[in-house]
Amino acid sequence: MSEDRPPKVLCHPDGKKSCGACCGMYNHVEHGQSQTMQRLRRRTRAFHRNTSIDDEASLKAFRQRWEDDEKVKLMTGLPSCPFLGFVDGVEPSKTEQQGRARIVGCLVHPLQNDGVDGRDCGVYDRFICEDYLCAAHNILRTDEIRLVLDSIDDSYLYGLVITNPKFVRQLLELVARRTGAWPSKKVLSRPAVLEAAGRCFEQMREWPYRDNDGIFGPVGVTGAVETRRRDMPADVFDVDPDPVDMLLVCMGTACKSTEELYSARRRIDAEVDALAAAVKRAQP
Ligand code: SF4
Ligand code: SF4
Repeated sequence: MSEDRPPKVLCHPDGKKSCGACCGMYNHVEHGQSQTMQRLRRRTRAFHRNTSIDDEASLKAFRQRWEDDEKVKLMTGLPSCPFLGFVDGVEPSKTEQQGRARIVGCLVHPLQNDGVDGRDCGVYDRFICEDYLCAAHNILRTDEIRLVLDSIDDSYLYGLVITNPKFVRQLLELVARRTGAWPSKKVLSRPAVLEAAGRCFEQMREWPYRDNDGIFGPVGVTGAVETRRRDMPADVFDVDPDPVDMLLVCMGTACKSTEELYSARRRIDAEVDALAAAVKRAQP
């Protein structure tokens, strides 16, 4: 882990990855990595083909054509902005072919357009887009942010994890319980620890026990903009609670049976154990 203080704004932390969650990146019934990236790629190509940042009519026409219909959104009352795309080009790169995403971002941002701001044509306006910072900015500690930044290097997974601060906190709390102490910054910077943390985060990319709306983590969708806290699995199945249950909740888990629940618990527990072991080995 780098010794540098993490950036204050987490949306575009480095040149390798970025987050587009609050623009609506995951608010789609087809929110898997390949579907999401293909959608962004198609939009980006169409944007460059059909719009000019100086031509407001072209931006409005683009929005009309590319804004998601309510029926394909998970949370219908939450805007999903068609101007979210790739800001580092659209041609497949070697890393993308390997399943890694590229830099997602605002196609009408002034930094992308020689100072011309097209964000008023998006689903919010330039002031909301400029000022909004999600809860992760207030919740996550600098060592937690650094751990995420240094163990994930693609946009799809980064957006999922950085907007799920409870998962990150809970993971480190479980590790602290298993090792007897909260891991120091130095310990969290060790390559083996970063690798093990990366494997824990990696579980979120294609978590097989995820609910239909589980991409939003602990928040379940109940209406256009209404949400609910996801139930604890032990309550759902009337079984004894397990220390990893809160992680399962943060991963949007919905099991169909107690067998499936036990299997989900075992899977994430093994990753937490591996991280705790790596932390133990790294401790002085
Ligand atoms: S969800 Fe948070 S980190 Fe992601 S783009 Fe929005 S403000 Fe930035
Ligand atoms: S216009 Fe605003 S909501 Fe749309 S992509 Fe840009 S920053 Fe996101």
